[in-house]
Amino acid sequence: MVAFPRGFCAGVRRAVDAVEAALLRFPPPIYCYNEIVHNRQVVDRLTEKGVVFVLDLDEVPRGGVVLFSAHGVTPQLRDDARQRGLTVIDATCPFVAKVHAEVRQFARDAHTIVLIGKRGHEEVVGVAGEAPDHVIVVQDSDEARVVDVPDPSRVAVLMQTTLSQSEAGLVLDVLRERFPTLKTPSTSDICYATTNRQEAVRQLAEEVELVLVLGARNSANTNRLVEVARKSGTRAELLPDLETLTSMDFDGVSRVGVTAGASTPESFLEEVMAALAVQGFDPVSLSPVAEESVTFALPPPLRP
Ligand code: SF4
Repeated sequence: MVAFPRGFCAGVRRAVDAVEAALLRFPPPIYCYNEIVHNRQVVDRLTEKGVVFVLDLDEVPRGGVVLFSAHGVTPQLRDDARQRGLTVIDATCPFVAKVHAEVRQFARDAHTIVLIGKRGHEEVVGVAGEAPDHVIVVQDSDEARVVDVPDPSRVAVLMQTTLSQSEAGLVLDVLRERFPTLKTPSTSDICYATTNRQEAVRQLAEEVELVLVLGARNSANTNRLVEVARKSGTRAELLPDLETLTSMDFDGVSRVGVTAGASTPESFLEEVMAALAVQGFDPVSLSPVAEESVTFALPPPLRP
């Protein structure tokens, strides 16, 4: 059985399209800061086409073209790129850019910002970089219980876009109890794609004995999907490649559910479905839990 929605979200699609468009517009190599998406198949395919993935702007020659991924970067890094004379294509997802703007606003209003998210994740690093002196990253309820702020009456909370709604809700409850005047953004920071994929996998988990979540081990939203499925009491495994499938134990499993993280291409899902069909599992699609129509224009300077 296959969940829907699944796979590429609007932010990832735009970032990948931006790289493809940049390859047509500029002579290779094009440089990409960090992985464009957390997915090996996508990164390998783009590397073959002339994209060089770097972890340090020092690796980009002066005058080169550098692309920032959907996860976003710190303002300091953006300035650094400008000072080096690089042509920047900023594919930061607009939903992530929204959180950056919220940090700037709350920091201007002299609030301490508690950012719920995974310390060290690119998105969290970029968001916190907007106001490092104002942001404290909190990963879970335990940390929320002891987080120390200079003025408990001036605290705001923001979130990584790919959190599980229920887990983030628990942390939020703790913060609300500790800081009764806690400020929150006007709309949730957890994006539509995260919410829809989590709801779809929750429903899928009720129908099957095993859920396979296709995606990379370092993909935050993919890991959340595994956690959500397991919370339903169903066995769930992350599947980064086809080799992992061959060593998987299907004893006692008559129905397999498949979904994919927001950075996993549909081509990988098709390969997995074909491999499962060989093992006798039927490719049945579940009804969509939501229709998705979000699209984003290419970032400047790639717009026509
Ligand atoms: S998961 Fe959400 S925030 Fe992240 S790139 Fe996709 S649409 Fe944007």
